[in-house]
Amino acid sequence: MPIRVLDPQVVSRIAAGEVVERPASVVKELVENSLDAGSSQISIEVRGGGVSLIRVMDNGVGIPPGEAELAFARYATSKVGNLEDLESISSLGFRGEALPSIATVAEVDMVTCAAGEPVGTYLSLKDGVAVNQGSRGRSPGTTLTVRNLFRKLPARLKFLKSPATENSHIAHVVSQYALAFPEVKFALFIDGRMTLTTPGSSRLIDSVTQVYGLEVARNMLEVKNRGWQGGAAIVPPGVTGMVGSPAISRSSRGYLSLFVNRRWVSSRLLARAVEEAYHGLLMAGKHPVAIINISLSPEEVDVNIHPTKIEVKFGNEHIVFTSVQRAVRQALIELVPVPKIEEVATAYISSPPKQISWPSVIGGDSLTDSAPVASQTPAVSLPALRVLGQLLGSYIIAEGPDGLYLIDQHAAHERILFEKIKLQRSRQEVEVQGLLEPVTFEVNPKQEEVLKSHYENLAEFGFTIEPFGERTYLVRAVPSLLYSQDWAGMLRELLDSLSGEGKDDWAEKVAISIACHSAVRAGQVLTNDEMRELIRQLEQVAIPHTCPHGRPTMVHLSTGQLKREFGRS
Ligand code: ADP
Ligand code: MG
Repeated sequence: MPIRVLDPQVVSRIAAGEVVERPASVVKELVENSLDAGSSQISIEVRGGGVSLIRVMDNGVGIPPGEAELAFARYATSKVGNLEDLESISSLGFRGEALPSIATVAEVDMVTCAAGEPVGTYLSLKDGVAVNQGSRGRSPGTTLTVRNLFRKLPARLKFLKSPATENSHIAHVVSQYALAFPEVKFALFIDGRMTLTTPGSSRLIDSVTQVYGLEVARNMLEVKNRGWQGGAAIVPPGVTGMVGSPAISRSSRGYLSLFVNRRWVSSRLLARAVEEAYHGLLMAGKHPVAIINISLSPEEVDVNIHPTKIEVKFGNEHIVFTSVQRAVRQALIELVPVPKIEEVATAYISSPPKQISWPSVIGGDSLTDSAPVASQTPAVSLPALRVLGQLLGSYIIAEGPDGLYLIDQHAAHERILFEKIKLQRSRQEVEVQGLLEPVTFEVNPKQEEVLKSHYENLAEFGFTIEPFGERTYLVRAVPSLLYSQDWAGMLRELLDSLSGEGKDDWAEKVAISIACHSAVRAGQVLTNDEMRELIRQLEQVAIPHTCPHGRPTMVHLSTGQLKREFGRS
């Protein structure tokens, strides 16, 4: 066949295929339009899995009579005017593709009335062409009715799953937007059944209750970390939403809702950031319930990656990742508070808990991704604890003003050392131990790549390493903490686990790794004095109840719990 430009009809069908994959895509596009129109009420009705009917009704700004037909022209939009607008998109729609695409693959009727107009407009389209138009009474807002989806595309129709499955996709889409817009009243009717309603109270917890039920709602924690709030671009981004306590974790990732400036997105980066925040808190194979909205300056994110607009690209992935991870982690840490008995704690701790700052090695304004740690990290003090003994050679049993504490000696020591290492590094006071004889250290090619670019970082932590022939290095000094430990094993493990991290992440990982390799092991018998010293130091760190990997350092059984266990009131 010779080369020729495709016929416009073929073009629009190809394009429609990208936007409208299944009935839920139609629902998504129409709901997004209703939200862009500033609606406070959106009602969605579907029948036959969305194939027979999808109707979305809103009370938004409506479309002026003269523009009704234009809304169905390809690339016709009221949301983007010029090239600059594309750089900072604040509406959900912007491509002007949804309505024409839907009209290409289904029969569409629209009734719309713009505020201030005496009467609304009625428009009916078949095969993308207006076949009927006129005036019709309607209160301000828009109703879009889509019938017989994919009737003329048997291949697409065949690819659809059962109506029940398509319904579940539709319910999922509506649920996501209900979670992203708690100020909007949503109602979803499937085959005449009311499936979901939200009150539009502006409170996220109310939407969560409607979408996931009371049990989940009771176990949600608020994530609050306002970064960008309009106006000048300020990094890091704001991270708000709610996360479920580990107790309500799920076996699928379907309970993770991610929004960027309230656009529902699918992002592995964000999903990973959330999951990492739960590190050590969930059992293997379990996933969190979480609703996270990231707000950042529209220039910081590109939403124009794919016609469905569900993928996004961040200007600075690193900052976004750490902001999300930290905000979620913080919410979770507050969940597992160790009782705060200030008087006892202050009486016991001679110096106030140290706020450790993690200075940026990059300098300049890139402080943003590291500085918040110190200021945002809640300092939760531990009450004075009295050591009672050691259990299984691994746990310290201690008594506090409110019950019993079981402390994981390795995790607790790791936390203590981690903070000590960070502090020493920031003050450039790392304790170094020279080796009696330099030791050769061989690496594989991948390890070498990592090592080559990180001499200085390692030096800041007390390693003196220099090249010595083919893939061989000479180690002259190591951090004192590691002197009598397997520091070569630790280095190798570290080099294997790292790749393209930023310098700050690198530093954090080095500190964790040194702490982990020098902390007392499980199974190591400790004397009473050693245990007391460990507890005393633990009481002075900023976050005593998790290790730097995020695992809990202690389990607390309150006096109340004990009494309940033994049936006393
Ligand atoms: P986009 O959303 O990308 O602009 P669409 O094809 O989805 O493109 O819609 C085209 C235009 O029709 C929109 O820009 C908007 O002006 C108008 N429109 C669509 N749906 C609605 C609605 N529910 N309320 C008001 N205006 C709407
Ligand atoms: Mg749209």
